[in-house]
Amino acid sequence: MTRSVKAIRGMNDILPEETYKWEFFEQTVHEWLAAYGYRNIRTPIVEQTDLFVRSIGAVTDIVEKEMYTFVDHLNGDSLTLRPEGTASCVRAVLEHNLLYASPQRLYYSGPMFRHERPQKGRYRQFHQVGVEALGYAGPDIDAEHIVMCARLWSKLGISGVRLEIGTLGSIESRALHRTRLIKYFEQYLDKLDADARRRLYSNPLRILDSKNPEMREIIAAAPRLIDDLDEDSLLHFETLQHILRKQNINFEINPQLVRGLDYYNRTVFEWVTDKLGAQGTVCAGGRYDGLIAQIGGKSAPACGFAMGVERLLALMLEYGSEITQSVPHVYIVYQGKAAGDLAWKAAEYLRDEGLKTILHCGGGSFKAQMKKADASGARFALIIGDDEVQAEEVSLKPLRDAAEQTRVELRTAVDLIKKQY
Ligand code: ATP
Ligand code: MG
Repeated sequence: MTRSVKAIRGMNDILPEETYKWEFFEQTVHEWLAAYGYRNIRTPIVEQTDLFVRSIGAVTDIVEKEMYTFVDHLNGDSLTLRPEGTASCVRAVLEHNLLYASPQRLYYSGPMFRHERPQKGRYRQFHQVGVEALGYAGPDIDAEHIVMCARLWSKLGISGVRLEIGTLGSIESRALHRTRLIKYFEQYLDKLDADARRRLYSNPLRILDSKNPEMREIIAAAPRLIDDLDEDSLLHFETLQHILRKQNINFEINPQLVRGLDYYNRTVFEWVTDKLGAQGTVCAGGRYDGLIAQIGGKSAPACGFAMGVERLLALMLEYGSEITQSVPHVYIVYQGKAAGDLAWKAAEYLRDEGLKTILHCGGGSFKAQMKKADASGARFALIIGDDEVQAEEVSLKPLRDAAEQTRVELRTAVDLIKKQY
């Protein structure tokens, strides 16, 4: 016997019992983005490796350990499955000169790839919806992003997602902070783990993002960037807070919030839940004013965020959010050749009338077909046999209540069905 082929570890099939939730989520997100005037951008799933190394940063978890990078053996190029969406979005915006005339409000969605240890809420292929505003200096747009997130949580029926905000200041204030951080951590060399020691001089800010519980204490007491903040960044941060307060958005300031990617400056934020164990961050983002120039464009400010779809769906389950599932209006059962001709005609007619219709396929007794009709979730069965063909009528049987079966003309059946919805 040949060995069966399985999906790759950490990369999930999403089956019909789950996909209806995804479709509900996507539809909600779609309407929400339209309400704020964001337009969709779609970029390839594979990019030149260099794009991610340059944007996310060489000394980060993603680039050092998590990227699916491979050589295209046909031409020797180093390619990478996208681990996140911002870099690709910025690349496409520059390549097509979209910032030429005006700033852009954009969004993307789709699978991302990171070679992490698979566990609940952490996968190797996972899905994000990301929002990017390019060409905006903020802080109004930073606030817009946070306010729109809050609206989405309520649309999705989830509450109790905590907002943490922080600021990374300007490049200059980060340089000053970096020196202080190195001095501080040098005092605790024996307490740093291997990653932290290796990054102490190359990227000390990354140490603050460590998830190692043994370093929690020394990280908590580390010098805070917020204390080295330049005046403009401080004003930016205060204006953001002002708008959030006016919009009744609760937040905590987390001075150690740095995010796992190097391109952020000024505003950073995370939405965190306590209901999903260690994988509690459902959405995260911030400002990245330096990235566009770094990728080779004319310098322009920007900010954005991305949310993890799997984690949000898990949270919706925790909160018992109401998710509507599409069920067929009608299931047509029939027996006999002439009845078959009528059934096919009726099925297309019902669809013309906007009714979701399943036409039974595969034959079988009426009893067996009715079982299928019942299992389909349809509200009505439309029954066509020799008697119905003779009378040029159809039998309509309600499946979800005790109402009587009736025999009527097809047009009347349509009216009766529509009256029920
Ligand atoms: P974490 O701290 O959980 O590793 P991150 O900081 O690496 O997250 P981002 O790069 O900011 O995550 O991605 C934004 C969101 O995408 C996260 O908040 C999370 O909801 C989701 N996400 C990130 N990595 C994964 C993954 N491997 N599996 C599922 N969702 C993920
Ligand atoms: Mg991560």
